Amino acid sequence: MKSSSGSPLMRVRRSRVHGSGVFAARDIRKGTRIAEYTGDRISHAEADRRYAHKADDDNHTFLFTVDARTVIDGGVGGSPARFINHSCDPNCETVIEDKRVFIEAIRSIPAGAEIGYDYMIDRDPSDPPNIDEIFACRCGATACRGSMLLPPKKPRRKVAKKKAAKKKATKRKGTKPAPRKAPRKAASKVAKKAVRKAAGRKRGR
Ligand SMILES: [Zn+2]
Repeated sequence: MKSSSGSPLMRVRRSRVHGSGVFAARDIRKGTRIAEYTGDRISHAEADRRYAHKADDDNHTFLFTVDARTVIDGGVGGSPARFINHSCDPNCETVIEDKRVFIEAIRSIPAGAEIGYDYMIDRDPSDPPNIDEIFACRCGATACRGSMLLPPKKPRRKVAKKKAAKKKATKRKGTKPAPRKAPRKAASKVAKKAVRKAAGRKRGR
């Protein structure tokens, strides 16, 4: 996407965080729609089939969950938005509108700054034990959780314990509860699930 003056908003170049990254080509105002995440629109089953043979230590993921039906494979005909890195203290968020995924600035971004959003990758029982190592985050944020994956879900046992954990969470900086995601089919017959980024906010239909 381009600014009103016609100059590009972002630029892809090597990132210190991870491989290629996307950087603000000019000052970007909060609320600006920076890019659309595009690519091949496929089913979850097809995504698993496509990436079943991907090496376990490969942490590149161009898959983005739109909803329970659709995944966007940015690796096939995808826009430069696929190069936007994960950040634990992001300056952008993803917004789903009419089954399309957009990246929007949630703060003002100065020219030259790296653009990032929280990948919010879900955990799966088939994940290898070193999944957090594979998806280690080096975003450098004070609140960096060290992983591109969402924190493991806390077991719900005692109410008292749950309350205590909640209190602690609100006290900590930068640990906003993740928005709920679209329900996914419970049990997949594919042993290994391809890793997907998940959507933040949903708008429209
Ligand atoms: Zn981080």
